[in-house]
Order: sequence, then C-alpha cells, then structure tokens
Amino acid sequence: MFHNDPENPPKMTIPERLTRRQLLGATVTAAAGLAGASALAQTPAGFTKLDEKDPQAVALHYVHDAKLVDPKKNPTYKPGHHCANCLQITGKAGDAWRPCNIFPKKLVAADGWCSVWVQKPGTT
Ligand code: SF4
Repeated sequence: MFHNDPENPPKMTIPERLTRRQLLGATVTAAAGLAGASALAQTPAGFTKLDEKDPQAVALHYVHDAKLVDPKKNPTYKPGHHCANCLQITGKAGDAWRPCNIFPKKLVAADGWCSVWVQKPGTT
C-alpha cells in the first residue's frame, strides 16, 4: 500500500509496531556485537602483555617505554627507535600493544624497545 500525505500519516497497526520494536532490538544487539568484536580485535586471543621481568624480555633489555633506555648500556639504541617502527612488530598500526615476532603470544608496547630493534622499511 502506498501513502504520500504528510498531513495525515498512516496509523501503525500492532504488528507494524512490534516489527519496529523487534528491528530496534536487533539493531541494538548487532551494535553490541560489533563493539564486542572490536574489543576482541584489539587483544588477539591467547595473547598477554609482555612483562618487563619476563626472562627473555630481561635478556633482550626490553622496556615498555623506549625513552627509559640507557644508551650507555644499549649503544645500538638511538632516540626515535621504538617497537612501532621495528621490523619485528605485527598487528595493527596505531594500537598501543601489538604482537612481536620475537615474543610469541605476547603483546609489546608500541612505545617499547628491545635490543633486537631493526628499522621497519617505510617508517621513520
Ligand atoms: S623486536 Fe622490535 S617490536 Fe619486538 S620488542 Fe624488540 S624492539 Fe619491540
């Protein structure tokens, strides 16, 4: 049925109202599902944040904040080197915590650093 009179909108029947409520409910449920999926995408399943006290992290002088690296103890470190521009980092650019090839099932801080750092091509 076609209705084109803005002064006299058609009255909704009860089944139409239920349909709109159901649609609204489905929309809210879908939005909640997308939000949940987004949160999961930020933390890959089975990954945990790397602890600076992890034996491998200690051995490779890993720190969450590259600004705290002591250049005297780590002569290969130069200001501007950090995990986000390292060849070994994976995951999504811009995320604060990302997987790293050197630390399986761990997330490293994008601002972090370790002695394995190598410049990722195309980064500064
Ligand atoms: S290998 Fe690169 S990305 Fe991984 S912890 Fe070391 S500096 Fe960060």
